[in-house]
Amino acid sequence: MFCLGISANCLNFLIIKNQQLNIKTMEEKLLFQLTVDHFGFETQLFKAVEELAELQQAIIKYNLADIKTVKEKNLLHNLLEELVDVEIMIGQIKEIFNSPDELLLYENYKLDKQQRLEKLISNDGLE
Ligand SMILES: [Mg+2]
Repeated sequence: MFCLGISANCLNFLIIKNQQLNIKTMEEKLLFQLTVDHFGFETQLFKAVEELAELQQAIIKYNLADIKTVKEKNLLHNLLEELVDVEIMIGQIKEIFNSPDELLLYENYKLDKQQRLEKLISNDGLE
């Protein structure tokens, strides 16, 4: 077996970690599916809009704060909390649009946008 000089213990650790991540991902996917089933996809899409607006507001407030104060820490906590809310809603949206065609389109867009980002940061610029 070729394992890039990784010890057997390290390899076992990585395998177990990967299995734990897969289980966590499956549990999350199931939770998101059940949530969408429970509330309905229209409701959850509107909820996503609401959470995105809250994140937008939290980012703006944090960005405008220029002094390291307790207030700023609260703004950071608020930003992180809204980020989690949005991640949860994104997970639900991905469960709503999860047909093979939609997933393929999603992965293609994601790959394309990541390539554009790589190009941008390597100073090749965008078209
Ligand atoms: Mg929120």
